[in-house]
Amino acid sequence: MGNVTLRNATKRYEDIIAVNEMNLEIEDGEFLCLVGPSGCGKSTTLEMISGLTLPSDGDIEIAGENVTNDPPKDRDIAMVFQNIALFPHMNVYENISFGLRLRNFDTDEIDRRVEQAAKIVKLGAMLDRSPKELSGGQQQRVGIARAIVREPAVFLMDEPLANLDAKLRVHMRTEIQRLQKELGITTIYVTHDQEEAMTMADRIAIINQGELQQCAPPLECYGRPANRFVATFVGSPSMNVFDGVVGTDTIESDHVAIEHALGAEYVDRNVSVGVRPENAYLVSSDDEPANSSASFPAVVDVLEPVGDQTYAYLLPQGVETTDEAVMSDETNQLLVSIDPDTDIEEDESVDVVFDREKVHVFDGETGDAITHNLVDPATAGGAAGSAEEARGD
Ligand code: ADP
Repeated sequence: MGNVTLRNATKRYEDIIAVNEMNLEIEDGEFLCLVGPSGCGKSTTLEMISGLTLPSDGDIEIAGENVTNDPPKDRDIAMVFQNIALFPHMNVYENISFGLRLRNFDTDEIDRRVEQAAKIVKLGAMLDRSPKELSGGQQQRVGIARAIVREPAVFLMDEPLANLDAKLRVHMRTEIQRLQKELGITTIYVTHDQEEAMTMADRIAIINQGELQQCAPPLECYGRPANRFVATFVGSPSMNVFDGVVGTDTIESDHVAIEHALGAEYVDRNVSVGVRPENAYLVSSDDEPANSSASFPAVVDVLEPVGDQTYAYLLPQGVETTDEAVMSDETNQLLVSIDPDTDIEEDESVDVVFDREKVHVFDGETGDAITHNLVDPATAGGAAGSAEEARGD
């Protein structure tokens, strides 16, 4: 069994709290990604699981055993890092088998494990090669094979693909996913790249400033973000978020009033409204008048074609690019993704319409999610408390 539990795991460095009271339950065979911006505490969390760093407080369990203060060699884990550091004077076979030879495994067992691991990572024909005869991706696969031969209960991977070029990285993601499912070994994978986390993991644990924000399957984090941070961190391009105040029937913001069905207890509350680029639509001003319950007039500032869709950057009518940011803390543009075959042009006046069933609302002070559906807030699993539930508190 390779289940891993963190109980209030905390790491302090003098006045820095790198990780604060982290609680995670990772199931046997699960692929969990730790993701968040640089410096948020991902590597420190992984290091506490590996034993390379000891927690200041809290407990770590692997396979039901409390290993909090055990050194890495006494934990049933194998690690893969960004810089795999192969021994240059050893061939692929020797590199893969190094750890087993060090532990005095017998030759037949070493042969069996190396052969099996090399087959899994598709290096069977390259066992005699030296590392300098391998591409970056192949070297990374040697590093993974070296972890596989250990037959650990848990794989710990820290940005293992960060040094590879974009195409190879995408390919290796699939390889690692396939391999993980094939071997069924619990895997904890650190990445700063939300797209990598979304595509690979069974669940993603999103961390910010040492605090766990949400731990859930990727599509749940995307569709039902626990708070404003998760909402804008997950998804590319990012969710549009702007400030508003809840009125009796509508949420009022500088440029749009959006009809809502929130309870009376929310009236007068400051909120942030979130709309993903694919949940807003443009209606040319020559067309029928847009649904007035969630629309506003805007001008197409820039069109950015990316192939399968086009990103339209819009300025609310009367707002200039040089004005103070009105749509969020940083921008006065709203981003909407539109059909690339559209005949909408730059400088055109349009109405922007939101799909109210996909409008997210966050508390203005705490940032915690209030709802993910303005038409029927209850179905969104909604109101206050969802952030705690998402974190598993
Ligand atoms: P991430 O992996 O998410 O980029 P880290 O876990 O490496 O983040 O770091 C989290 C925080 O802890 C950062 O603010 C970092 O500067 C700090 N930190 C990490 N290791 C040390 C250390 N050995 N001494 C002091 N501060 C550290």
